[in-house]
Amino acid sequence: MSEEQLLPLVEPKERKELLPRPLSHSAIQTYLRCPQKWKLKYVDKKEEKPRYFFSFGKTLHLALEFFYKAKALPPPSLEELLKAYYAHWISEGYASLKQEEQYRAEGVRILEEYYRKNAAAFKIPFFVEYEYRFHLRHDLKIRDAKGAEFELEIARHLRRFRVEAEYLQPVPIIGVVDRIDKTEDDRLDIVDYKTGKAFDLDRVREDPQLTMYQMACEEKLGLLVGKLILYHLPSQTPFSVERRGEAAVLALKDTIVAAAALIRRGMAKLKGAAESPEAEQLGLGLGKAAPAAERAPGAGGCEDAVPEEFKPYAEDTKCSWCDFKPFCPEWKHLFAKQAPCEQAPALESELQLAKLVDQYGRLKDEVHALEAKAEDVKKEIVGNLREKRYVRAFGEAYEVSLHDEEKWDFQDREKVLETVRRAGYWDKIVSPMVSLVQKLMNDPNLPIDLRERLSRLGHKTRHGALRVKKIEQED
Ligand code: SF4
Repeated sequence: MSEEQLLPLVEPKERKELLPRPLSHSAIQTYLRCPQKWKLKYVDKKEEKPRYFFSFGKTLHLALEFFYKAKALPPPSLEELLKAYYAHWISEGYASLKQEEQYRAEGVRILEEYYRKNAAAFKIPFFVEYEYRFHLRHDLKIRDAKGAEFELEIARHLRRFRVEAEYLQPVPIIGVVDRIDKTEDDRLDIVDYKTGKAFDLDRVREDPQLTMYQMACEEKLGLLVGKLILYHLPSQTPFSVERRGEAAVLALKDTIVAAAALIRRGMAKLKGAAESPEAEQLGLGLGKAAPAAERAPGAGGCEDAVPEEFKPYAEDTKCSWCDFKPFCPEWKHLFAKQAPCEQAPALESELQLAKLVDQYGRLKDEVHALEAKAEDVKKEIVGNLREKRYVRAFGEAYEVSLHDEEKWDFQDREKVLETVRRAGYWDKIVSPMVSLVQKLMNDPNLPIDLRERLSRLGHKTRHGALRVKKIEQED
């Protein structure tokens, strides 16, 4: 065979499929960002936490699906659209009732504006929530009968791989397009709704998801795509570009085939390891319930060997959004001590700890929400008392009284201190403030002798300061 011939992929009947499920755009992106995360999600089936922004986006998608699923004109009324929105509301992932209420109101605003802008020109779409499934067949540059070489951008770096022919076969693809409109010249306009942060036309020009949609729709529906549209719902802005050129589609196909081949080879290695006599003895294996030692956060089992196809590529920003840190070879040492191979790790206590962390975070959120609510109620009571010229009011269990307090602020604080000092009132306003002295002691530039003198005047104790931070949106 000559060098670099174009050859079709090997047909699936020649080899058993190793992919655990068809690849979606999001699965491919997950693999390209961090192959280990893909494995944890799709092979080990670790669960991600619910996130409010996914719930919010999904609810709006469901409401618009209802709107566009109208079988005949006229379209549903605004009231019907909002009714569907409330009926499909997903509560998962919101930090507090207050946050959920804010988003619920924001969703109403978005749909009202959407309706005002789009209802008059409503047309029944060609497809709503169009689900595609197909096998990607793609001719490859294969150097020799043994396989192909690829360049694949993984974790934002171009990496070279050589993959054996046995892993190069058509790739099962799956996905859902929000809406497809058919134009008068028999083209397909693809619409994808976005509910996250604002973006510009550059994103739409490069968005690989839209390229995937184009490829899938043209493959399955046999018509050419006209426009690719990302509709930013919060700002009611449809960003539209012409269909991708052939080069972009070919590049995407190369990426998919390469990623699938690497995943298959990684799966074959995992399978081989799982079927080894040692693994059999330990009860390890793909599709078998792993023993606690393998499942517990922070304990990776007896061998932590990760096939290069599922290597973790850690980056602080990316990993801070990843729910799988307790299971990831890059991070799990931070979550628990490595359990000895022969002993079952403390799964119960790890789960208990995770529960406590979430409980603590939620309680703190509730405290903040309650404080904000108490402040609002206080303002309303003060307004009422002033209006009625009362200074006291009673409930069944509590009473309140209103005291007017004067508050001063001073621009030039140094002058104020100097004035007080000169008048001989210094001692009345100055006393050592422990928190400020503490701050001074933590200052790395504090002269050593001053630190020592201050140390001799006090005594030090140690206690745990717990900071809680919400795991936030990645979009
Ligand atoms: S924590 Fe980071 S390196 Fe580990 S799986 Fe998640 S994204 Fe990958």
